[in-house]
Parts: sequence; structure tokens; C-alpha cells
Amino acid sequence: MALLVLKFGGTSVADLERIRAAAAHVKREVDAGNQCAVVVSAMGHQTDQLVTWTREAASLHDAREYDVVVSSGEQVTCGLLAIVLQAMGIPARSWLGWQIPIRTDDAHGAARILNIETDELKQRLQRGEVAVVPGFQGLSPDNRVTTLGRGGSDTSAVALAAALGAERCDIYTDVDGIYTGDPRIVPQARRMEKISYEEMLETASLGAKVLQTRSVQLAMVHQVRLLVRSSFEPADALPADGIQAGTLVCDEDEIVEQQVVSGIAYTKDEAKVTLIRVEDKPGVAARVFGPLADANINVDMIVQNVSGDGQTTDLTFTVAAVDLERALEVIKSVKGEIGYEDLRGSTDIVKVSVIGVGMRSHAGVASQMFRALSEKGINIEAISTSEIKISVLIDAAYAELAVRTLHSLYGLDSA
Ligand code: ASP
Ligand code: MG
Repeated sequence: MALLVLKFGGTSVADLERIRAAAAHVKREVDAGNQCAVVVSAMGHQTDQLVTWTREAASLHDAREYDVVVSSGEQVTCGLLAIVLQAMGIPARSWLGWQIPIRTDDAHGAARILNIETDELKQRLQRGEVAVVPGFQGLSPDNRVTTLGRGGSDTSAVALAAALGAERCDIYTDVDGIYTGDPRIVPQARRMEKISYEEMLETASLGAKVLQTRSVQLAMVHQVRLLVRSSFEPADALPADGIQAGTLVCDEDEIVEQQVVSGIAYTKDEAKVTLIRVEDKPGVAARVFGPLADANINVDMIVQNVSGDGQTTDLTFTVAAVDLERALEVIKSVKGEIGYEDLRGSTDIVKVSVIGVGMRSHAGVASQMFRALSEKGINIEAISTSEIKISVLIDAAYAELAVRTLHSLYGLDSA
């Protein structure tokens, strides 16, 4: 018997049929004797609709009222799930953010959770009542409704699991776990049984949308074990403890057979900017990247070529694709101070990354990677690394070939 937090994302509660399927998963855990707090997202894409309405109402609007509107999607789902659970004979009630309360700061639209009051929740859970909690919402210091930022229900679930001291936080979604590579392009990709928090963070920051990055950071800090699993599998077909389904996101100490490389990720969401023939003298990098930082544009990879003539050099860097136009504008606006011959931007690139905590203690992962790519004739345009990740920037046309090549190179292909 354990205390569990179960979280159901938008696709898992998209309509009443899906809400019934979610309820069946809750029932399985209740029947197994577990105490359950359930966190829900808004139904399907409801939040997008709510956001659109606030914009249409007035393009410049009060962020406190924005939160009143967009937090409402979760309220509908949690009431409906409580009704469905009750109809199945399970004692359940909804707890809105302000009723618990989930205390946050006053950064409306992107609030941070400060504290969750759990005394009454715990008592009721012990009595066998299921608590259904809307994700995404909280209460500001002056008692206004806040929201945690898009995708924030994951963070609500992790924060609640930490506050309740839950055994696990089960994230029910539309995929059945985290894979060693994108199954759409690597048919041999395998579902990982376990992945460490740090690896999950790298994966999440590369655009995998399974978990909100902040929720993984929070889980790591509070050592909340997360189980990513599918709500689309029939509830009764799964083992009652659930531990054999899905992928467990946990501390690396819990992973006994650690691979050197645990997965290959890629993202198309980046763009490349190249400044041709920039003057090669002190202070140029500061003059390029200072204004970009001032414009809140995040720069990821940077390559400065050695100059042939000692006078000028080419400078390449990447930004998020959505920031490309702005980045080009910023650079053009300071052309006089920087001095370059030509400026180019392109989105025909992808970033392919090899991730694994085992890299900390194993040398040679990078050289293997570079050799394998060169053997396929794939040119590397930029490289960046962290302790547990190596990323390369390549021509988008080679994305699939690169991912497949690396996936088999590091022995990740299923037998
Ligand atoms: N419903 C919110 C959103 O769509 C929060 C969430 O689902 O995590 O962003
Ligand atoms: Mg989500």
C-alpha cells in the first residue's frame, strides 16, 4: 500500500470516454489499496481556446484575469473526474487550487509554487478518499488565482507528490514511456525501463514534450520518482503496482545497469546564424552576443572559425527557430559596431544529441560519434557538449540517417 499521485494530461482526459478510462486507472490503484491524489489537465486543447479568448477580448489584458480564464479548463476536468469516480463507487472529491491551498508567488501566467497545505488532504487520503486536484493553478499571496505556465500540470503533480511524500508520481500520457530514439524514425528504438533525472532534463530541453522541464527539475530536487506511462493501455491489463509499465524517471543510483549512452535525441527547432568575415579583434564576440542577450534571445551553440588572413573570421551560432528573424534584426542593427561582410540565417539544420550519464566515466563517446557521422558523409557544422551530452549541428536532410546511425553505433537497437 502506497500513497501515489496520478497525473493525467490533456489527451488522457480529452472527452468523457477518456475521463472514464483515466478513472479506471485510478480504480485499479484504489483497489490495490493505494491512497490516490489525482492531478488533471484541461480537456484536450481547451487551454489553447481559453488563451485565444483572452487575446481576442483585449490584446493587452490584466494577467490576473488571464489566469482566472485559463485556469478554468482544469476545474472542469477535475469536477468531471470526481463525478465519474463517484459513479464507480469510489469516494472522491475535487480540490481547487485555492481550496487546498496551493500557494504560489504572484507571477501571474508563470507562477512558482511556494507551499502546499497537506494536512486535511492527508487525513482524507488515509480514510480512502480520492483527492482530484486541477493542475496548473494556484493562489497568490493576495488570494488571486494564478497559473504556472503552459504545461504546468506536470509541475503541480510533482509538487503535490513532494508535499505529500508520495511513493511515486505517475504521469499518464499518450505515449507509453521514454524511448532510446524517436520511434517514428528509428523503428528499433526501445522503451527505457529507467532514465535518470539529468538525462530526462537533457531530453526535455531538446524539445521532447513528454514532461515540462521545470517539473523534472523539481522532481530531481525533491527526489520524486516519476513513472511516465500511457493512459491508452487498458487499465486492467497492467500490473497493479504499475512498475513494469512505462519508464521510471529516477535517481541514477537506482539504475543498476547503466549504459554509456542511453538515448539519441534530435530537434528541428533551431536555426543557424552566420556572420561572414567578421573582424578578428578583441571585443567582437561581446558586441555580437551582448545585444542578443539584451533582446532575450538565447544562443545555444557557437563556433568561431580560425581566420585565414588574421584579419577576419566567420562566426556561426544557433538560436531557437522562432527567434531567427529577431536575431537577424538585432545583428543588422549593430552592424556598424561589429563590422561584417555578410549575414546569413537558415533553418535547414537539426541538432542531434547523444545523451548518457555514463559519459562522465567513459572516454571516446565523442570521437566514435564524429567518426560514424563522417563515414556517412555527414558534415558537422557545430558541436556543443555537457558532462552527459554531445550535440552536433548538421544539415536537416541528414537528420534521420544521423539518428539511426548513432542509435545502432551505441548498441541501442532492439534485437
Ligand atoms: N492545461 C495547461 C496547458 O495546456 C496545463 C497543462 O496541461 O499542463 O498548458
Ligand atoms: Mg503536458
